[in-house]
Amino acid sequence: MIKYETIDELVKEAEKRNIKISELALEDQAKSMEMTEQTLYEKMEISFEVMKSSVTEGMKKDQRSTSGLTGGEGYRMNEYVENNDGGLCGSFLSKAIARALSVAGCNASMGRIVAAPTAGSCGILPGCLVSLYEDRGFDEKDIIMSMFTAGAVGMVIANRASIAGAEGGCQAECGSAAAMAAAALTELMGGTPSQCADACAMAISNQMGLVCDPVAGLVEIPCIKRNVSGLMIAFSSADMALAGIKANIPVDECIDAMKEVGDAMSVTLKETAGGGLATTPTGRKLKEKLQFGTDE
Ligand code: SF4
Repeated sequence: MIKYETIDELVKEAEKRNIKISELALEDQAKSMEMTEQTLYEKMEISFEVMKSSVTEGMKKDQRSTSGLTGGEGYRMNEYVENNDGGLCGSFLSKAIARALSVAGCNASMGRIVAAPTAGSCGILPGCLVSLYEDRGFDEKDIIMSMFTAGAVGMVIANRASIAGAEGGCQAECGSAAAMAAAALTELMGGTPSQCADACAMAISNQMGLVCDPVAGLVEIPCIKRNVSGLMIAFSSADMALAGIKANIPVDECIDAMKEVGDAMSVTLKETAGGGLATTPTGRKLKEKLQFGTDE
């Protein structure tokens, strides 16, 4: 049985057996959950279906959050991409951004999403994977398998540090999601388990220190847009790893550093809405507006 205490363990075992991290995780999880690999794969297949439908739902023109604070970001980004030749980032990345915004928007309007690993960071993995599926023609089976790699990474981070904004700041939510997505993308592109680990390490390093400061305590501002930065970091980290760029600090040490930073973070920056953007003059005004139904 895999302990999911280090990513090094996953990499060594997968490389020893010349298999992917996803194959190792599927085999191991099926055993520990006492079900067949096929049954577990089919459960993951459903999760990918939910991811795709959350993209569609969140991209609707009239998408609005339950609070009314946000809405329509995915639609606007998608329109911009269509009408501006892909915008600055180019069509593929810009559409991926639109998808991440859509899924995070779907969450803010109480739609059905896959928490990967949390609701606040739910747009990063689908933004990456649905884009490879819809725009790059990747095989659906491979994409679903890569979700086991993402899941294995998430389990290690949860065991070794945290995946909760209330415990570790947003680095633990969007940072973990970016690390999970970076590993999945690397595997999908034919990277080795060790390259998956490098991609994870770089993603975690690049989200290190990110605070959790939801305006009015709602998972909307800045959460929706932070899914975009997580997605961009996932793609760039995967590409760096695939290019042969090594993480200078091993991934498990990056996770430990993330925990140390989270532990040192003020409680005002850990989902309490007591600091950061939540306590800016505008953040306070938005909170009051929701509480009292006024603009003052
Ligand atoms: S800011 Fe906080 S609530 Fe929002 S996504 Fe990040 S961790 Fe979650």
